[in-house]
Amino acid sequence: MCSAGAQQSPLDIGETMKSQMPPLNIAWGKTADTIVNNGHTIQLNFATGSHITVGGEKYELLQVHFHRPSEHLIGGKNFPMEAHFVHRNAAGSLAVVGVLMATGKPNAAFSKVS
Ligand SMILES: [Zn+2]
Repeated sequence: MCSAGAQQSPLDIGETMKSQMPPLNIAWGKTADTIVNNGHTIQLNFATGSHITVGGEKYELLQVHFHRPSEHLIGGKNFPMEAHFVHRNAAGSLAVVGVLMATGKPNAAFSKVS
């Protein structure tokens, strides 16, 4: 799904600048409906109820999956892992929220993924 993007992803973020972006309002539930190991990644699937709203547009959360190492880079460096929260609006457009993850203490949220 991620490789289907034709416009901007993955990025290597080299510099940042201040900009006025619409806020990203996150309303995710706490539990996935199914968890699948498809041999390529672990994927958490969501039915309905979890969503984001950005620029007045609502996108329903479809699934979360992981990349090792990260697809996106900052200053030419990747991260050990990246989570992709994949959403779709009523028109079928996708909005993916990527979360870069660094190595550190165990994250309690991951212990619940089983
Ligand atoms: Zn992905």
